[in-house]
Amino acid sequence: MKTLLTHCPSIIHDPPHVLEDIVHGHPIQPKHFRLDVDHDGIAWLVFDTPKSSVNVWNEETLRELNHNLESLEHDTRVKALVLRSGKDRIFVAGADLKGIRSMQPMRVNDLIWLGQAVFDRLARLKMPKIAAIHGACMGGGFEVTLACDWRIASDHPSTKIGLPETQLGILPAWGGSTRLPRLIGVRKALDLITSGKLLSASAAKHAGLVSHVAAAEHLETLARRLVREKRPVARFHLENLFAPLIGRIAKKKALAKTRGLYPSITKAIEVVTHAVRGELDDGFKLERDAVAELIKNSETARLIDLFFKREEASKRPALVGTAIPIHDAVVIGAGVMGAGIAHTLASRGVRVLMTDVTSDSLARGLERIHGLVSDAARRRLVSKVQARDTLDRISTTHTPVPLNRHHLIIEAATEGMDLKKKIFADLAARVSSDTILATNTSALSVAELAKTVPHPERVIGLHFFNPVHRMPLVEIITLPETSPDVLATAISFVQKTGKTPVVVKDSPGFLVNRILMPYLMEAVRLHENGIPVKDIDEAMLEFGMPMGPMRLLDEIGIDVAAHVAKTLAAAFPERFPQSHALDKMVAVGHLGKKTGLGFYRYENGKETTLGGHADLPRHESIQTNLALLISQEAMRCLKEGIARNADDIDLAMVLGTGYPPFRGGPITFARDTGIIDY
Ligand code: NAD
Repeated sequence: MKTLLTHCPSIIHDPPHVLEDIVHGHPIQPKHFRLDVDHDGIAWLVFDTPKSSVNVWNEETLRELNHNLESLEHDTRVKALVLRSGKDRIFVAGADLKGIRSMQPMRVNDLIWLGQAVFDRLARLKMPKIAAIHGACMGGGFEVTLACDWRIASDHPSTKIGLPETQLGILPAWGGSTRLPRLIGVRKALDLITSGKLLSASAAKHAGLVSHVAAAEHLETLARRLVREKRPVARFHLENLFAPLIGRIAKKKALAKTRGLYPSITKAIEVVTHAVRGELDDGFKLERDAVAELIKNSETARLIDLFFKREEASKRPALVGTAIPIHDAVVIGAGVMGAGIAHTLASRGVRVLMTDVTSDSLARGLERIHGLVSDAARRRLVSKVQARDTLDRISTTHTPVPLNRHHLIIEAATEGMDLKKKIFADLAARVSSDTILATNTSALSVAELAKTVPHPERVIGLHFFNPVHRMPLVEIITLPETSPDVLATAISFVQKTGKTPVVVKDSPGFLVNRILMPYLMEAVRLHENGIPVKDIDEAMLEFGMPMGPMRLLDEIGIDVAAHVAKTLAAAFPERFPQSHALDKMVAVGHLGKKTGLGFYRYENGKETTLGGHADLPRHESIQTNLALLISQEAMRCLKEGIARNADDIDLAMVLGTGYPPFRGGPITFARDTGIIDY
């Protein structure tokens, strides 16, 4: 097995013990890969981990890939290699984060050496190499393809390509930060790596990540054709000569945007812009050193933990109850939320009947949906065919029609208990007795609504957030009488729509709004006491919130916020005192962004407000005060059993409000900083 080391000059120097293991190594039992050489001399190497729906890189799978590469080096029949996956929807999902989470930093370092060495061996294999990508191709999954000559991808919606490592507090270190800027130029590489975004096959082709896109069933023919063609030569990117300058500008911008709170992003900029110059091995060393530094940060551990919490919530079925698959749904109301929900459901393959009281409201709703679909197509998030299919799945009506064939109705009509009660009573008469009746209310009691229908066990809250196509969270609001099958169906349905469900009890403000409200109201109180709007917002931006509380109030709408505040003040008068500041703004029509005036003035696409002072000690005390309120309310919700556990609360606040993910969520923050007795 000496070949691995001789192939990688840098690795001869001071190899970690994991590479020694390979050299003197354990025998390899074929398990994760199938290797077949056909009569044309094409080796088809299929990654297909048994008894798992995913393929990931860990010590075992990397060793096995290495073993296969070694046999290919000696097999004189082989003229070309095609790397494929045996999974339906995954090419390679990346590194085995579960394994990495429990590893000592030394072992992580070893694993990085190993991945770099094995992928480099693939790159040096003296034959054309093609990665035929179908399904998710992320992180290390994409990095292995960067060691191939060609990358071709299926046009299936499950094909998503990208390097999301910086979102987990690390960076691509299996050659990704070094090879990607050589492939597509330093600017595009920085954009992909620092955003961590995943691209559809069409967007990936546009960005230069893959050379061809074809239907999944045509990938094999395409690969056969390409092996006969001349291998692509590396493109010269003039901009790479100016990488240090591009790096400095990118770093300045990133620091202004992230306020230095995401070291993985600034580190990635440094590594990419340096690694693009000089030898590959120098780049690999930069990657290793950077990860060794980043992996020690507690922020990285929290980001990885949060990733697992989200994965679990997005995939875990209900513990009890049987989920019924839902293929069609009715959405009542074609306003901001109704249209947003209808669009999201239809884009995930659900047929939707959208209703409203007039044809005009339906036309406005459809216009909104058309806008969302064409925007997604323009940005290559979906193909033209997918865009057309989404629109084809939506039908509308403003006259009462029989609904007894539908298993799920989502009510998203104007907020108001009387109106919603009327809608629910009317629905109950028109649907079958087991149809699930869901409401998207932001603040009304779901229990109160359930009283209006026979069989209240099928009433549930499905609280989507605005804008629906961007916000990943859905609160599922349950009642004591909610049937386990209804809950199981709701969970599986929300997961099918690509959102993350968090199950909460029916209680004023549910979970997210309840935790957010004391924070927002305290921000208003600070402002009433003379602290400038800008200082309050700046302080919380420095904490890592994506938007300051005053700006957020303007976005939500001062009238909507006042309504939620009243609901909470009525339910918890001792902790949520009535605030008249918002009422006064509502009375004079200062409703926030939608009226051009709130805490900020919105004119010509810009917002302005009276300036504050950059008073840093004051910012710190504002931060401590406001962050404490969020954590305190989160702890109360935990103690009252509003959510099932602390993980769900942390996750809901990160996904529903953009609470800084590197802090892990308000309960983790309270525990880690000791600001509250945990
Ligand atoms: P909206 O005013 O934009 O739309 C409401 C729509 O409901 C209008 O098109 C109206 O014509 C229609 N409608 C009224 N009566 C109806 C009836 N009897 N049958 C069918 N349609 C009817 O309101 P929105 O912002 O979309 O809010 C809808 C619901 O979603 C509310 O309960 C709101 O609290 C909740 N919500 C809103 C947000 C948000 O940020 N806007 C976020 C989460 C939840």
